[in-house]
Amino acid sequence: MNKREFLEGFFTASTVTFGGHFMWQRISQQSLLLANSPIVDPRNTTLTAGENIASFQFTPIELKSVQPAEGIPIPAPVITPEKDPNIPFEVADLEEVQVESYLRKIRNFDAIFASDIYLDPRYEPLLLRTTQHLSRVERHIGHGHFNLMSFDEMLQHGRDFSQIGKFEADELNFIEEVFFANPHRYGFFGKKISAEITDFIPRHDVAKIANTGHYLLRGESETLYKQIKKDVGNEVILTSGVRSIVKQMHLFLAKAIEANGNLSRASRSLAPPGHSYHGVGDFDIGKIGYGAKNFTADFSKTAEYQKIARLGYVDIRYPTDNLFGVRFEPWHIKIT
Ligand SMILES: [Zn+2]
Repeated sequence: MNKREFLEGFFTASTVTFGGHFMWQRISQQSLLLANSPIVDPRNTTLTAGENIASFQFTPIELKSVQPAEGIPIPAPVITPEKDPNIPFEVADLEEVQVESYLRKIRNFDAIFASDIYLDPRYEPLLLRTTQHLSRVERHIGHGHFNLMSFDEMLQHGRDFSQIGKFEADELNFIEEVFFANPHRYGFFGKKISAEITDFIPRHDVAKIANTGHYLLRGESETLYKQIKKDVGNEVILTSGVRSIVKQMHLFLAKAIEANGNLSRASRSLAPPGHSYHGVGDFDIGKIGYGAKNFTADFSKTAEYQKIARLGYVDIRYPTDNLFGVRFEPWHIKIT
């Protein structure tokens, strides 16, 4: 698949309001500039010199100058909760006006706010290259298996298969920075679920769910899904089950590209790697034939969702106005 096809696949699958193309255009326009950059040298697949690897830093920047386009809500005031980055930030500690501004962002999750945090543009080529590399892994082992792939397996596959290619030091640094960076910096307040990047899902702990390409953790998740199907009907389908850190990483990086490097906006729609409850049993359900709308608030209008809401034993992870930094997700079933 060439780059253009890859991009088209990437963006047509999305339901975003704003096009994701300009970041890619900007990158090609900037390639000359970047050639002189001390940080990223696009002529090489790795960083220019050994010492740059040690000095690599995930440096989100704040673009206060971004002007809201027509129809985009008024930018929210900047929330600066972290005086000391070592002290964990609690949403409950926010002033009322800050909560209001926070909720405005969550309700308009796909809008761009002046206080949004962006990935430093110098790392955009690395973001693209790493995401494409992960796409090659996924294509090679298939979507189903990729849901379960561990970090170590990813490395191994890169080494073993020339069509994937070995992961370079700068890509691995980048992946680690994304995993270990505190997402409070860009406005995501959910809990860290997996502490280690090498955490993995044991194969004997999961069950393959027929006709979905997805897996569920045996026990509570599998039982709950079967019960929902029994009570609501066969129109209900698993749309995403258990997801490894590598899978979540790929989804998050793709979301960051789609959001033109706006990490705040990306994380309002998708938990950063290590923070997804899909790693511990949560799953997404949809209605057969409802397509991409299964992942929009419209899902809450379907008869299937209405039934689910009345069952009494089903809870959703991200209700409206939740304080975890993620939009309303009526499709995302919570496991206790
Ligand atoms: Zn989900």
